[in-house]
Amino acid sequence: MRASDLLHPRPEGLYCPPGDFYIDPVRPVERALITHGHSDHARPGHAKVLATRETLDIMAIRCGPDFAGATQAMALGDRIRLGDVTVSFHPAGHVLGSAQILVEHNGMRIVASGDYKRATDPTCAAFEVVPCDVFISEATFALPVFRHPDAADEIGKLLKSAQQFPERAHLVGAYALGKAQRVMRLLRDQGYDRPIYIHGAIARLSEYYESQGIKLGNLQPATVEDGDKRDFAGAIIVAPSSSFADRWARRFPDPLTSFASGWMRIRQRARQGGVELPLIISDHSDWDELTATIRDTGAGEVWVTHGREEALVRWCELNGISARPLHLVGYEDEGD
Ligand SMILES: [Zn+2]
Repeated sequence: MRASDLLHPRPEGLYCPPGDFYIDPVRPVERALITHGHSDHARPGHAKVLATRETLDIMAIRCGPDFAGATQAMALGDRIRLGDVTVSFHPAGHVLGSAQILVEHNGMRIVASGDYKRATDPTCAAFEVVPCDVFISEATFALPVFRHPDAADEIGKLLKSAQQFPERAHLVGAYALGKAQRVMRLLRDQGYDRPIYIHGAIARLSEYYESQGIKLGNLQPATVEDGDKRDFAGAIIVAPSSSFADRWARRFPDPLTSFASGWMRIRQRARQGGVELPLIISDHSDWDELTATIRDTGAGEVWVTHGREEALVRWCELNGISARPLHLVGYEDEGD
């Protein structure tokens, strides 16, 4: 059997005929294996969903308890049989519960890594190298210009700014799942013990992280009643960046806008978004992490899913690894 007979793209998503399942399908299917809870990968409406316990919990929080007909939780490292293939989940280091999915059939091993990073993240299990024949990789930041600095140093910039401008509210844009909790945990790791104010869209997921043992400290709702603007002077407020355009954000005293994303490497992008304090903190691999990971897996073949496919395919070819883009559609940048 060729690798492409074991897994190949269909309009619904990446399909495994001998196992009769899809990985991160973008349309409702009979059986879906889900790598992690970001909305472009974890969609509601499948008959059966197999994922880590955390991903199932996150899907229930985001999509409601009836997000699938039936669910089955996979412990990391456990192997199960689906049709003629064996499947196991392994940590991806992307967000809480995120997993790579190893598909094995007659000695052939394909790893669908979903989204992943190698940098340290105190809010989720660290990426595990899974040796394989074919490695399926994302390519969100697959250009040599993308090199993520140490996230702790970026958080240091935020703390310094909050000290320097004690009269201004610091509004930090961060994706609701993963990035927001990572930013808060990094603040605590640097000794920040004041309350952190959070937008309502982040509350339930942050509570869930807490319930899973990821301590985020004193979190308070970032709600502004008329006339109490002073309360937020010098405060750090974490919110989805989409909320910055809302009336909600204008109520804070002289807000200083920050955004935690790998895209903040591109100054123009920060400027266009009106971001005064860009923080380069990404939950995706940068160029060095992508290329190192491909080497680490020992894969002789790489399939590239979403992002800047061309550069990564080219790098593989130059390094004697056969590679091709899968041209999967429907995956955006949630959680970058
Ligand atoms: Zn993701």
